[in-house]
Amino acid sequence: MENFIKIKMNKRKKIALVAHDHQKKELIEWIEFNKGNLSEHELYATGTTGKLIEEKIGLKVNRLKSGPLGGDQQIGAKISENEIDVLIFFWDPLEPQPHDPDVKALLRIAVVWNIPIACNRSSADFIFSSHLMKEDYNRIVPEFDNYLKREI
Ligand code: PGA
Repeated sequence: MENFIKIKMNKRKKIALVAHDHQKKELIEWIEFNKGNLSEHELYATGTTGKLIEEKIGLKVNRLKSGPLGGDQQIGAKISENEIDVLIFFWDPLEPQPHDPDVKALLRIAVVWNIPIACNRSSADFIFSSHLMKEDYNRIVPEFDNYLKREI
């Protein structure tokens, strides 16, 4: 049977914000609406999304590389290092992206580490209206011992 570990997410969460180009307007509107809440957390974003958040909203953001230049992979690496607690990722369902493999990899690693993910505005609203956003929270993650001890 698989064992589980608990990973603590503090009251002040580390939140990654990413939007594909056609979704940036919507993400910026959502951030403007949730500015007060978001200012209580530590924010990360891919390059262009982060630049827009700083310029249009004035929130401080840890800016990574632009998504197609490695930013999505940087966020994925941070999730696996327990440096991101929540992913708000408004990806574009109608447009192929040059970095589609990175998008898939980011969504996959977020599921592996059991972090909350919002891929559209209503999901982001539901996450942000949860009382858990204002509390410490232990998320449960498999130890992956069956996988790590597999016979090769
Ligand atoms: P961007 O990247 O914020 O640098 O535009 C987003 C993405 O395409 O993943």
